[in-house]
Amino acid sequence: MTQTIAFIGLGNMGGGMAANQAKAGNTVMAFDLSKEALDRAASHGCTPAASVAEAVKTADVVITMLPAGPHVLKVYSEQIIGAAPTSALLLDCSTIDVDTARKVAGLAKDAGYAFADAPVSGGTMAADAGTLAFMVGCDEPDFARIETALEPMSRATFRAGDHGAGQAAKICNNMILGITMLGTCEAIGLAEKLGLDPVKMFDIVAKSSGQSWSVTTYYPWPGPVPTAPSNRNYDGGFAAAMMLKDLKLAQDAAAKSGASTPLGAQTEALFQMFNGLGYGGRDFSAILQMLRGKLDELPKS
Ligand code: NAD
Repeated sequence: MTQTIAFIGLGNMGGGMAANQAKAGNTVMAFDLSKEALDRAASHGCTPAASVAEAVKTADVVITMLPAGPHVLKVYSEQIIGAAPTSALLLDCSTIDVDTARKVAGLAKDAGYAFADAPVSGGTMAADAGTLAFMVGCDEPDFARIETALEPMSRATFRAGDHGAGQAAKICNNMILGITMLGTCEAIGLAEKLGLDPVKMFDIVAKSSGQSWSVTTYYPWPGPVPTAPSNRNYDGGFAAAMMLKDLKLAQDAAAKSGASTPLGAQTEALFQMFNGLGYGGRDFSAILQMLRGKLDELPKS
């Protein structure tokens, strides 16, 4: 059954996700503050809306893909709740803190909506291909409907638990990602100093026990994985500023829960340094160039 989807936030991730909803035959009412993002969505079959309120007014499903918690809280509390029909299913796919996710869920529920936090994993390649993994926090009876709505963008959808649980799972996942990417970059830097070819290193590690998603799908050295941002000078992809945001969320959650995360803390400190040097807009795998002492070869934006 085709539906009317309101899609808010058409950036690196949301652009591809909205396009896949349109490709599935849904009517996609799209909005972003950036005209460029909106024009790109229109070229992929979405209908540009003049505001969030206009995008959501006849929606069966509202999907948001925004940078961080403050954007999500503002857009839901001021522009979606009350403007969308109460029959609409509200899905926030951004990565944000658990407390804000629960707060937005409470506001939505009080106003009569079904809401889920549904952050994603897989990066821009999976967003474009419709093969993201979704981690959902929702009321149990709503899950089947949520899974159906996410289907055009998904390879796997998991209910992690009640509201906030999707974000908790995502924060843990991205702490692993930050640590494995940093480990991969350090190993490439060491391999280079030892006279090894980083491309040959890929061939070896991809088939050895150092293998991870950071290696096989996102290798930070150009060549072996043609779709990885390393092949386009680390343009687009997953901004280092976003990775830093997620690592901070993990450290905040660890402090509150009493979990021991020393590698997470060290990874956050290194991404803090990289961002502080002005590279927050580059893909996070560009941190390789900081470790190699080659930042002079990396454009800042
Ligand atoms: P992005 O900055 O490319 O896109 C965010 C978009 O939101 C921008 O186009 C911006 O103009 C728009 N926006 C901001 N405020 C808005 C508002 N008030 N109304 C309408 N539009 C608004 O970011 P992204 O890389 O697409 O990431 C989005 C979310 O997905 C983040 O929470 C990020 O942590 C998460 N995420 C990103 C990746 C990745 O690989 N890029 C992977 C998984 C999860």
